[in-house]
This record gives sequence, structure tokens and C-alpha cells, in this order.
Amino acid sequence: MKIHEHQARQILHDAGVPVPPGVVIESIEAAAGAYKQVVSDAGLGEKGLAVVKAQVHAGGRGKAGFVKLVRSAEEATDAARFMLSNRMVSPQTGAEGLDVRKLLIAAGVDIAKEYYLAITTDRATRRNVLIASSEGGVEIEQVAEDKPDAILKEPIHPTMGLQAHQARRLAFKLGFTGKQVNEATKIMLALARVYDERDCSLAEINPLIVTPPTDEHPDGRVMAIDAKFSFDENAMFRQKAIADMFDPTEENPSELRAHKFGLSYIAMDGNIGCLVNGAGLAMSTMDIIKHHGGEPANFLDVGGGASEEAVTEGFRIILSDQAVKGVLVNIFGGIMRCDVIAQAIVNAAKEVGFKVPLVVRLEGTNVESGRKILEDAKSSIPTMQAALDLEDAAKKVTAAIAS
Ligand code: GDP
Ligand code: MN
Repeated sequence: MKIHEHQARQILHDAGVPVPPGVVIESIEAAAGAYKQVVSDAGLGEKGLAVVKAQVHAGGRGKAGFVKLVRSAEEATDAARFMLSNRMVSPQTGAEGLDVRKLLIAAGVDIAKEYYLAITTDRATRRNVLIASSEGGVEIEQVAEDKPDAILKEPIHPTMGLQAHQARRLAFKLGFTGKQVNEATKIMLALARVYDERDCSLAEINPLIVTPPTDEHPDGRVMAIDAKFSFDENAMFRQKAIADMFDPTEENPSELRAHKFGLSYIAMDGNIGCLVNGAGLAMSTMDIIKHHGGEPANFLDVGGGASEEAVTEGFRIILSDQAVKGVLVNIFGGIMRCDVIAQAIVNAAKEVGFKVPLVVRLEGTNVESGRKILEDAKSSIPTMQAALDLEDAAKKVTAAIAS
């Protein structure tokens, strides 16, 4: 589960990481007031620097023009107008882009240098790993590709956690000097604590910055000015505060609908809708569709105990996708009963109608009564064909679409 930058900044702030203050707005009219408030909260004076930032669950905002530095209420309003009336397209959004509903207006800071700092789980070593670079900022993906040596990694011990000496050593390697070393070390330790306590799957600060030297801070200050967090969804039962940060407007509407009925559904780019029970079977169904030259429109695992109502909803979701030109149902009934699936097909046929070819492969628990239900409904579902096995089903559905 992902959260917004402003929520991640709050978590960092609560953990003791210095983060410039900010205000979230949802309208163009609110921009001027928010600008005045943040520059005043940060003690920046009348034409102080602030930054207007789109709050969407995707990165690459800076390059897309959705992070803008402003120095007046008017500039803040112009930036807000642009971001709230255009869709944001970045390499992380796909061509259709994302609708922007919320903006963060934060106090701006002067930057002497940008660093990258993150923690994620490394499946190869089966440990969490602290990842850092002195070449942080909007080009970090390019740095990782061109200069892998510029990305430093420090494994985190599963029970002892990140040790202060590890963080210090990394701070030196990154080139922090003077008071920066302690500040950076503290931030790394705080990030590791948050990662652990909040069941994160990614906790990223990019950029972590050092501000230019001033009389008050001759070594500059180390601060987080952007943060991106993801969480392990399986841990949400014990992370109430995080679960409450969920923003449904950032999710694919079909995926959200499916989730409500306990179905796992992931939208994809192809044209063959799939309804399958079991994640493994769903994946092999997608593989075999591809093997026969087709492209799946979705992954849909109805699971073991889904009700007739939930499975019917699964068909509604698949059939509401305009790209779907054929549907493949592949059920190997164990706990899931074939008659439940068959009845859901009949319901969906009545309600929405299968205007596209439908290929059904049923096997397992209550297969006879399932087949009987479909046999009896055959005349009302003219596009339906039965398949003998998975191979046959994939061949039939790809052929039906091609013809
Ligand atoms: P992202 O592009 O989605 O990762 O958004 P970021 O919040 O990381 O902003 C992108 C870039 O904008 C940063 O790497 C900085 O170079 C710049 N930026 C963001 N906030 C500030 C700020 O307060 N002051 C200055 N000088 N630059 C900023
Ligand atoms: Mn960033």
C-alpha cells in the first residue's frame, strides 16, 4: 500500500527527521493562503521560497513539471492552477497520466547537495538493506544504471537492526563532514526504525539534502524534502494509523471494486479477460494465453471461498472493460465449487450479457452440477464454448478472438 508524500513527511517528522513544514490543499483558491502560512511558519519572510508539489502515488513529478518553486502567493496560485487542471504524465504513470487532486505547499529550502537514502527488503540476501548515494535527486534511476558503484548498500541485521556504527560509516562514505555526519546518522537510524515499526516495504528519501552554510549552521543542515513510503498490506491489521492513510482515489477503480468483494484483480493491457481460482493457476493461465499468442486483460483470482455474488461481481468487472474481446474461465475446483462459478456465469449473462466469446474450463468439486447449470443455460449464452483442459481453453479463446 502506498501513501502520499505529505503523509510520509509527517511520519518522518514524528520520527525526528527534519522536514520543512507544509500544508495540503485541494483547490486553486487555497494556494495563496497556504503559501503565506508556510513561509510564515518557516520564518521565511514575505517573498520566501516555497514549493508546490502534486500529491499522487507516482514519482518523477519534478521532471513532469509537477514540483514548482514559487516566491509569492500569485506564483503559488499559478502553479496550483496548472497542477490541478492538467494530468501528470511521467515515466511512472503510463501515457494516460494521473489526475491530481491534492497539492502540498511546503516551505522551500536552498540546496547545497542532494543525496539518496532508502530502505527496502533485499530478497536475495533476505535482509532489509539501506541504500544510499551522494548523487541523489531526480536523476537517481540514471545514476543507478550508469554508475552502479555510486549506489552504496548496507545490509541490516534481522534482529539487531541498523547499528549506529554502520550508519556513521555510510555517512562518511557519502562525504558528509562536520556536524552533518551526526545529523545524517540520526536520520538513517530513524528511517530504519520507521521501516521496522511501520511494516514498510519501501521507505525512501530522495532527495535528502544539505543546505548551504549559514552563520547559525556553518555545516549546513541535513533534511528530507521528499519521501515515498510503501507498506506491506498483510500487516495492515496491526497498522491502523497507516491503513487510515489509504487514499482510494489513487487506486484503479476496478481493482478497488474487486478488493471490496475479496477478489484479487489486477488490470492489464491485453484483451482476454480471465477468471481463475488460485493465484498460481491464474498465473499459468496468463502464461498459456500468451503462449498461444493472446494477451490477458487482467489477473483475477477469485480465491477459494468466494460467494456466487463475489464471482458475479468478478464477471461484471471483466465485462465492463471495453478492451475485453474474449473471456476465459479456468476453474480447478477444490474449495471453490464449480456450480458456484457456473451460476455466476448465468447471472452475469442475464445481467450484462456475454457479447464476446466465452470459453469455460471447469474441473473439480461439483463439476457435474456446474456443467449441468451451463448446459441448461446454453441457449441464453450463445458465445459460450466448453474446453477440455487449460491448453484447449487457451487455444479456443485466442482462435475465437482472431476470427
Ligand atoms: P520527484 O521529482 O517526484 O521526486 O519530486 P521531489 O520532491 O524530489 O522534487 C524534485 C526536485 O525538485 C528535487 O530533487 C529538488 O532538486 C527540487 N526541489 C524540491 N523541493 C525543493 C526545495 O524546497 N528547494 C529547492 N531548491 N529545490 C527543491
Ligand atoms: Mn524525489
